[in-house]
Amino acid sequence: MKRRTASRRTPSRWTASDVRAAVAGLRGEVIFDAPLKDYTSFRIGGPADVLVMPADAEDVGRLVRQAHAAGIPIFVLGGTNLLVRDHGIRGIVVSLAKMKAVREEPGHVLYAEGGAGMPTVMKHATGLGLSGLEWAAGIPGTVAGCVVMNAGTKLGEMQDCVKAVRLVDSAGGIVECPASAIRFSYRRALLPRGIVVGVWMQLKPAAKEKIQATVKEYLRYRKDTQPLTLPNAGCVFKNPGPDPAGRVIEAAGLKGARIGDAQVSDKHANFVVNLGHAKAADVIALIKKVGRTVEERTGLTLELELKIVGEP
Ligand SMILES: Cc1cc2nc3c(=O)[nH]c(=O)nc-3n(C[C@H](O)[C@H](O)[C@H](O)COP(=O)(O)OP(=O)(O)OC[C@H]3O[C@@H](n4cnc5c(N)ncnc54)[C@H](O)[C@@H]3O)c2cc1C
Repeated sequence: MKRRTASRRTPSRWTASDVRAAVAGLRGEVIFDAPLKDYTSFRIGGPADVLVMPADAEDVGRLVRQAHAAGIPIFVLGGTNLLVRDHGIRGIVVSLAKMKAVREEPGHVLYAEGGAGMPTVMKHATGLGLSGLEWAAGIPGTVAGCVVMNAGTKLGEMQDCVKAVRLVDSAGGIVECPASAIRFSYRRALLPRGIVVGVWMQLKPAAKEKIQATVKEYLRYRKDTQPLTLPNAGCVFKNPGPDPAGRVIEAAGLKGARIGDAQVSDKHANFVVNLGHAKAADVIALIKKVGRTVEERTGLTLELELKIVGEP
């Protein structure tokens, strides 16, 4: 266990020794006062009191039990559909960045630890000649985050391939949850409470060249239509209906609108980009402006896809 810096502050509801007790004996990495802008695709966000990167599912279980005993809340992130507010997150933030193993199982099943990035999972699937994840080409989130968000594109979504998930439940036990026990809907999945530490995906055999060609074509489409060279967190709003949110926002004349260093992308109006030093407060003000303007002009109420977390 590494400790990089001493805790910057102790929140009122728990003491520094409570925090030390919650992370005692973990085999993963523990970083006090971790700047979350370094762990999000937006490159925005204040510090976490403690960021923990558990070594494995057992480590996650130990952390959950100890944090519960100490009365400290846990938030899990992958970091690619997230806006962390400027004063960061109080309590424990968990990243599964050290839990990334991917393996094939019989019956064309792929098992990935929760922290494996979708690009890595897809690479494994393609290498094994397993089809069923091509729709996810270009989605940067973790496989666990993709289950929780039911990530998707117009080609498919996570619910199409999830067979089961491995969860650390709120008591710190490791349980398996079949897909039939998960209620998937548009960019949402209702799971038993807990931390997703592994995902089984049911795929099917196909020619590698065919999979590669589909992935390549979709990545090219993304490069042509999305602002991938600037920090962002994917789509900000859910599509309100047949007309995608990006088109509705563009029609409201908001492409290029800017507050501080936060800008509605001029390439894809449902992306907000960080031009360099954007604050979460800038992004939130811009998002409010977009929502207000669209509502005034079209009567449509846009719903957030982006998760906004932490202390204002
Ligand atoms: C360039 C770009 C393109 C994108 N394109 C798409 C797209 O086409 N389609 C799409 O759907 N999304 C897209 N996204 C958004 C994002 O990648 C997905 O929403 C993804 O599912 C988020 O995964 P994450 O691991 O980053 O989770 P986060 O964004 O960090 O978290 C999302 C939610 O899941 C929870 N969570 C995360 N991990 C766990 C876990 N292990 N256990 C329990 N809860 C957890 C978090 O607490 C949070 O509530 C894009 C993002 C970017 C930056």
